[in-house]
Amino acid sequence: MRHWKEIPLFKDVTYGEWSDWRWQWRNRIETVEELSQVIPLTEEAKEGIRTALQKVRMAITPYYASLIDPDDERCPIRMQAVPTESEVVVKPWESVDPLDEDADSPVEGLVHRYPDRVLFLVTEQCSMYCRHCTRRRVVGVTDKVASKERMEAGIRYIREHEEVRDVLISGGDPLTLGNDRLEWILQRLREIPHVEVVRIGSRVPVVLPQRITGDLAKMLAKYHPLYINTHFNHPKEITPESKKACAILADHGIPLGNQSVLLRGVNNCPQVMKDLVHDLVRIRVRPYYIYQCDLTWGLDHFRTTVGEGLEIMEALRGHTSGFAVPTYVIDAPGGGGKVPISPQYILTMGEGTVIVRNYEGVIAAYHEPSYDPREKYDESGVCKLCGKKHEGSRGLASMLAGERASLIPERTDRLERRKK
Ligand SMILES: *Cc1c(COP(=O)(O)O)cnc(C)c1O
Ligand code: SF4
Repeated sequence: MRHWKEIPLFKDVTYGEWSDWRWQWRNRIETVEELSQVIPLTEEAKEGIRTALQKVRMAITPYYASLIDPDDERCPIRMQAVPTESEVVVKPWESVDPLDEDADSPVEGLVHRYPDRVLFLVTEQCSMYCRHCTRRRVVGVTDKVASKERMEAGIRYIREHEEVRDVLISGGDPLTLGNDRLEWILQRLREIPHVEVVRIGSRVPVVLPQRITGDLAKMLAKYHPLYINTHFNHPKEITPESKKACAILADHGIPLGNQSVLLRGVNNCPQVMKDLVHDLVRIRVRPYYIYQCDLTWGLDHFRTTVGEGLEIMEALRGHTSGFAVPTYVIDAPGGGGKVPISPQYILTMGEGTVIVRNYEGVIAAYHEPSYDPREKYDESGVCKLCGKKHEGSRGLASMLAGERASLIPERTDRLERRKK
């Protein structure tokens, strides 16, 4: 991390300017010429950036750029910020919308995939455009905030759907909106009685920490319970500035979580990830998810194997505080949603006995009680604990409730045979 005065492009910048998020925003690095005054670029690197820029956006806040190690072409900060020509390479299994978000979108800018919560996309702009962005089909294309009509349509949908108890405001980056616009959204969501919690997903604490001011936090705190999930990927991103941003939010009672993406050459290493989760809990950010990199176009060079992810989880669970261990997920292509994956801890099971292994490989037998778990239901199948029938559920839950014996995928040979 360099002081900005050491960087030719910013040598005359005052402390007041540097710490002002509007200055940071206005002075984002968007061209090869500007970038070459911040880090040395080979002709090849310049050519690569120009090639990528024909297809994707670049914008790097001066703050985040100052974290780049100028002497290291493989610097993890650089890899997340500076495009390369690999981004124009598209593999056959990659797509524009691998999570099929558009298919689960009842109104523009709102994704309703899970029963009780929605993803509300309020802007398409970000303070920095991450090289690994999964939503690059929309993010940064026009740098625009959603229109008031679009936001109103989203809010109307939430109001009309009483099952929505959790609204996740995302984008783009919602914290790039001005306080007034953000408050307008929060106020309207809070007027809806069935909205119990509001979450904001934002990379601002990492790439534009100056935006997190006391005024912003005070405004957000009016709308509790409000959670913020941010996106640190590497220990180098934890700086005095990002630490201060998280402290301001935490001091205003906002629980902070972190979602990382596994990225080849950036953080696909058990030690780097362990350092990251330790640094996060020190700044009061609880590791929430580690994502397997989605199958979005142009990201093949960033993707890791799932085995590496499991190895990281193996290195965390048991080896460190339970609350520092995130859940590793694959966001299933085709809109299946997040699927948790984990090393296997149950080795086998027998009548009344479960054999488990711990993080060190110690093997232990757990003896189960011998009784009929169905004792909790009365004769009509009503649960004595919750007073309800465990029914009306779908998928696997309906099988556990005894409502169906099998679930068969649509396109199987046996179904084809049956049709004939
Ligand atoms: C990730 C996500 C959510 C929130 O999921 P949680 O597991 O509750 O954090 C909601 N909707 C969509 C479409 C998502 O991708
Ligand atoms: S902040 Fe999030 S939405 Fe914005 S470019 Fe980065 S990954 Fe994409």
